Amino acid sequence: MIRARLGWLGDRWVEDVFVAWDEGGRVTEVRPGRSDDGPAEDGLVLPGLVNAHVHLEQTGRKAPAETGLAGWIGALLRGPAAPLDAVELGIAQVVASGTAVVGDVGNGGDAWTAIAAAGLGGVAWHEGLGRGRGTVDAAVAAVAPADDRVNGGLCRRPTPHSLYSTAFPLASALARPGQAPAALHFLEDPAERRFLSGGDGPLAELLDALGVDWRPRMEGLGEPLDVLRGLGLLGSHVVLVHGVELLPEEWREVSESGASVVLCPRSNLAIGGRLPDVPSALAAGARLALGTDGTVSSPDLDLWGDVALLLGRWPHVDPAVWMTAATLGGAYALRLDATYGALRVGARPGVLWAEGVRAPADIGRVPARSWRVAPRGIA
Ligand SMILES: [Zn+2]
Repeated sequence: MIRARLGWLGDRWVEDVFVAWDEGGRVTEVRPGRSDDGPAEDGLVLPGLVNAHVHLEQTGRKAPAETGLAGWIGALLRGPAAPLDAVELGIAQVVASGTAVVGDVGNGGDAWTAIAAAGLGGVAWHEGLGRGRGTVDAAVAAVAPADDRVNGGLCRRPTPHSLYSTAFPLASALARPGQAPAALHFLEDPAERRFLSGGDGPLAELLDALGVDWRPRMEGLGEPLDVLRGLGLLGSHVVLVHGVELLPEEWREVSESGASVVLCPRSNLAIGGRLPDVPSALAAGARLALGTDGTVSSPDLDLWGDVALLLGRWPHVDPAVWMTAATLGGAYALRLDATYGALRVGARPGVLWAEGVRAPADIGRVPARSWRVAPRGIA
């Protein structure tokens, strides 16, 4: 149990809060602090963070120096592979930074075993990739089944990677309405809009240079949201990742569709030098989550670095927006909000302590953190 000077419950701040939990990390009590609880500790108690977009299997891989998405991907593919223990390296980083839940995206399909062994919750998305050969059925069968529950906190799910790397029919087949959400990289870079609207530009040139036979499976080119809608991929069954290039009216359309959007601002700055249109996202009432992305584009896997960046860049935005995105908003995007992302009775979100955070504005500095209930302690 803990009595803290400040608490973040997942969607709101409270001053002087008392939180108790049982042996399995299930929260049993959340209420105002009382004198018989002993003195309030000087800092912030909060649920474990939700890193809603990360590529654990890329941890430790050399980051390309090129900028612009197409050049960056090309350099990544030419560079050395990730170390064999990449997933374990990544898990150590996310746990050390106070993350209890990951939205991990991988091609190998086996990261979930290490994620489960670490006690982390979340989703291990297995990407379907490819533009050319083979049938859609065979490609779907090669990735994880829809919403396969590994344990009480972790699911395996299939997902398309993006609309420039995954054949359109396969992308549609991997994210069906009514299924648990897939995670689609979308409008991360201006080149993607050009690819989707005209079938040309740097991403088309990259695919050609890689010898990918991509043109036959691109029925329905047009404005990006029209393409997305035409493929049945605009809705609450798809989490859109990045959205850097979303225009104000597109933010409105995405919000109305029920889709969450995961922002990965430090990754976006590294690859494209640009950030999403946050004022338009907020004006549209977007359901936001946050992710670090992998260490090939992000300096580390500490989600608080992204919180601090966003608060620094938009100082007039209520810090609660970014705290929600880093906790309950992320859990909602993964559809795991009944368990994670909030300090509420019955949930088992992990309990995190942030040193020296005395007021909401203090989250703009990355604080030292320690676990009161670590992921391994959540039963
Ligand atoms: Zn990514």
